[in-house]
Amino acid sequence: MLSYQVIESGKPLEAREGETPVPEGAEVLMQVEACGVCHSDLHLWDGEYLLADGEKLTLADRGIEPPFTMGHEVVGVVAAVGPDVPGPEDGGVQVGDKRVVYPWIGCGTCDVCQRDEELLCLDQRTIGIRWPGGYADHVIVPDAKYLIDYSGLPTELACTYACSGLTAYSALLKTGAKTALDDVVLIGAGGVGLSAVVFGKSMIEGKIIVADVDGTKRSLARQSGADETVDNSEADAVEKIRKMTGGGAAAAIDFVGSAETARLGLDVLRRGGTLVSVGLYGDAMPLPMVMMPLMMYSIRGSYVGTLQEMREVIDLARTGKVPPIPVATRPLAEATAVLNELQRGEILGRVVLKP
Ligand SMILES: [Zn+2]
Ligand SMILES: [Zn+2]
Repeated sequence: MLSYQVIESGKPLEAREGETPVPEGAEVLMQVEACGVCHSDLHLWDGEYLLADGEKLTLADRGIEPPFTMGHEVVGVVAAVGPDVPGPEDGGVQVGDKRVVYPWIGCGTCDVCQRDEELLCLDQRTIGIRWPGGYADHVIVPDAKYLIDYSGLPTELACTYACSGLTAYSALLKTGAKTALDDVVLIGAGGVGLSAVVFGKSMIEGKIIVADVDGTKRSLARQSGADETVDNSEADAVEKIRKMTGGGAAAAIDFVGSAETARLGLDVLRRGGTLVSVGLYGDAMPLPMVMMPLMMYSIRGSYVGTLQEMREVIDLARTGKVPPIPVATRPLAEATAVLNELQRGEILGRVVLKP
């Protein structure tokens, strides 16, 4: 099999030929049809995350060392199944089935994994992070239960639901927005932010307001259904949003995760509002502690989503109520070029690689 691997942090990915794995036990071998390139891949590639005061969290701190194969938005065709994989009549799969992969996989045996909270598992096997990913022509999936039927949806779009769609959906659920008076501010209109716009339109009754510093991304957000957009590089951005929301938003989701965007997210909330923090840009924000009780704010982190949420995402997408985000296709061999373009902020929507 062919894979494009991180051999050295930040250096161009290198093509490696290896034996195509034979699935054992409950494993399934997928022939990759497409794999999305995610912003979080940039951190895996760079090898570090920015904490506070210039301090960094490295991949080694997370127990990840090159060489490895990135790619966690994988869609493909079942190429072979292990001896313990049940057939389609028993909830399993057979060769030729087209499936999108849920990549956020834990050990499968501990308490949290047993109750389908695999994101909380301390022994992660995330595909494309700790387990070989989809920047390759084949991927091994540990169990057929992580494969979801996406029939009725375009293949290249389906893979984006495994991270950008799922992350957006789960973050929107965490806003707690319930009524038409609960407006939600989305900060950052990259792949995940745009996904939140399209999913938000069928999940949130209140206004969806998008803040981005890039005019092209703002107009894309508006075309995707955002009710209002704001340029958050302007000094009066908070004031504008407070006016649009009649005094403050029920929630803000920060898809960037910088000190400035988190500050903006907090400043636009009304009493009792929730800031959902998703982006991994990094750095730290001073938090005026008195405002936490006085304003009854909640700040919560959200990392991708559960297997059950991924099934809900695919079900929701299949109703046809969620318009597609823009998806461009590029050959797998251009993976490094795509990562560079993503780093420079030149990618609109999602790019998916095809082997
Ligand atoms: Zn991702
Ligand atoms: Zn576990």
